[in-house]
Amino acid sequence: MSAGALAPGRTIGILGGGQLGHMLAEAARALGYKTAALDPAKDSPALKFVDVAVVGPIDAPASARALAEASDLLTLEWELIPAPVLEEAARLRPLYPAPSVLAVIRDRLEQRKFLARRGFPQTDFGEARDAGSLPYYPTIVKRRTHGYDGKGQARFASENEARSGSAIFAAPCVWEKIVPFAKEISVILARGRGGEMSAYPVAENLHRGGILHATRAPAEISEETSSRAVALARRVAEELGHVGVLALELFLLPNGELLVNEIAPRVHNSGHYTLGGCACSQFEQHMRAVAGLPLGPTEMKGPATMVNLMGELWEQGEPDWSALDGVPGLTLRLYGKSSARPGRKMGHYVVVGAAAAEEWRRADERLAALARGTARP
Ligand code: AMP
Repeated sequence: MSAGALAPGRTIGILGGGQLGHMLAEAARALGYKTAALDPAKDSPALKFVDVAVVGPIDAPASARALAEASDLLTLEWELIPAPVLEEAARLRPLYPAPSVLAVIRDRLEQRKFLARRGFPQTDFGEARDAGSLPYYPTIVKRRTHGYDGKGQARFASENEARSGSAIFAAPCVWEKIVPFAKEISVILARGRGGEMSAYPVAENLHRGGILHATRAPAEISEETSSRAVALARRVAEELGHVGVLALELFLLPNGELLVNEIAPRVHNSGHYTLGGCACSQFEQHMRAVAGLPLGPTEMKGPATMVNLMGELWEQGEPDWSALDGVPGLTLRLYGKSSARPGRKMGHYVVVGAAAAEEWRRADERLAALARGTARP
């Protein structure tokens, strides 16, 4: 074991109890640690799994105190945890990533300003107070905080549209110039406590309505583009002083240019392909990084395709799971959420190996077959 690493049998506490927290807790347990997690819902995926479940509001410093008391080291699954909660957590136990990393990420405008100060390539952006403050159209307006999975975002083609959709301006927003990208890609990498870094093969992502729909890895891009993407992600992680897994979402333009879309200082949906696709998943890698263990191998076992299963699939009743039968190298993962709502991530499946390329093309057909459902009794 490396000097200073968290000893087996100690407890890692996770701020946030969703599916990411659950998969992190599973990985921590497999490494020999005990686990704790904090979430407001006692039936959240992680709280049903961990050794110590702490039920409490995620925005109350007292909740962080309760989690810290049950833990030797803390980490998180969500970047929007309020600063006072993180500061309280970090005062009581080592917390990775540090509150200073989240301070840059939490607010989209601050994140964009950080990227601009450090010279990272990105789209034009600015503060948006109302429809009149948008410099040109079409544009995309995003809430500065608490927007995710396409929520808290609106596209406006004209000032008239912006005026009729002005509800979004009730909260502070940024505007961004729409990027006519050829592809969306992401880099998942880990940075250890000593600054060592290791990246997974670059992934290619398809979004629907602002929500990740499917990922394939490796991305169908040149070696040179892939190296540039990884270099950008390494520099972001380094300049943030991040510890743990980080995802950098990028737009690839038709001329080969890369623009940063977003930084996620945590395990990421577009890295789920590593669960089954790589010997060491992003969840294990994150736990290794924060616990001070050596980082694990990031090579792929074969090409992989990941497809998200959204709440809509349950509209006709339980999905017809037989639609997944007979696909070689397919693993289904359901998050165990208590109810399915449209737009809610309920699970995913990953296909690793020779069938992955075909699955990338056929994902919609597969989802349609799943959604036909088995009639409710
Ligand atoms: P975000 O939550 O910012 O990652 O946005 C979700 C998705 O919306 C992205 O993955 C893109 O597909 C799309 N999107 C966001 N911002 C832009 C932009 N400036 N130009 C084009 N598409 C965008």
